[in-house]
Amino acid sequence: MDSITACPAWHRPAALVVALLLSACGGDTDRPRQLELNGAAMGTTWSVQVLDLPAGDDRAALRDDVEAAIVRAEQMLSTYIPGSDLMRFNRSGRTDWVDVSDELCSIVDTALTLSEMTGGAFDITVGPLVNLWGFGPDGNVTEPPAEDLIERVGAHTGYRKLEADCGRPALRKASADVYVDLSAFAKGYTVDKVAHILDAREVANYLVEIGGELRGRGLNASGREWAIAIEEPRLEGRSVQTIVGLSDRGMATSGDYRNFFEFDGRLYSHTIDPRTHWPISHAGASVTVVSESAGFADAMATALLVLGPEDGIEFADRHEIAAYFLVRTDAGLAERRSAQFEREVSIL
Ligand code: ADP
Ligand code: MG
Repeated sequence: MDSITACPAWHRPAALVVALLLSACGGDTDRPRQLELNGAAMGTTWSVQVLDLPAGDDRAALRDDVEAAIVRAEQMLSTYIPGSDLMRFNRSGRTDWVDVSDELCSIVDTALTLSEMTGGAFDITVGPLVNLWGFGPDGNVTEPPAEDLIERVGAHTGYRKLEADCGRPALRKASADVYVDLSAFAKGYTVDKVAHILDAREVANYLVEIGGELRGRGLNASGREWAIAIEEPRLEGRSVQTIVGLSDRGMATSGDYRNFFEFDGRLYSHTIDPRTHWPISHAGASVTVVSESAGFADAMATALLVLGPEDGIEFADRHEIAAYFLVRTDAGLAERRSAQFEREVSIL
């Protein structure tokens, strides 16, 4: 079979906010109860829904602050912006300590802790392989790279080749070719940042979303938990698998079905197993994680997708993580929920 590239340039979220059918208007004033802000950043779209913006605050000021936070995060963390703080570190061929901002240092430090925790399933040094497999800023490929090239490039990866010393704050690479990719964490992290802005403005009810990674607080206009649709993992078209309630929590979904190429009847997705240097190849099609922090949920959804449905659920149960897998089986799509997911997440 010929290879087909089915990799969308614009990444579409795997989880969607279910549209509110209620008109959310205020009682005795003309000020609407609900407002929505949206835009495009990080190769995807973002939206913020706010209910009952405190008196004295206004939409334009809120929008400016939210947008500035997203732009700042992107300028710091993106591998698609050549001048980002991260790309400046990536390009430096130095193997001594390189000064970075407190924030970038602490993000890398957190990511390294998550690598330790997941036995390397989550690994931000996987960047050279992401690029080699055609899922990075250099563009797509239509067939797997040569095996010796995978081996050569893979030799420069591994989270132990990267260190963070946030007392300085600085980062250090073990070799000049180490290259950091924060794409599996950046959106969730930025969702948390935007949530903190809303918390500081004392907004009691909101939903923040960047490319399908979310964080909700309080309730929606109908007085219920925010309703979030988890997509059925289909290569073409879109449909809803299930709807969950989200309140005072972050949520992220990673899937193998939105950003991939197909060659010789096999799917190669943008999630790389750092242990094999190849894209994941098991039956797990998507993972949704619900957690206090959207950043943690984002990274953990990627890690669990790498671990696959069996090891992933076992890991989630051991660490009390709320995780929901969609798995392709001969009998169709199957759901697997961790114990924490059963306890903590309501299905609407
Ligand atoms: P999405 O960006 O679609 O929400 P993820 O959060 O799962 O999906 O992030 C996937 C991106 O993370 C890939 O495009 C790649 O840049 C990077 N990546 C791939 N595999 C890993 C991994 N094992 N650990 C950390 N980052 C990864
Ligand atoms: Mg992720």
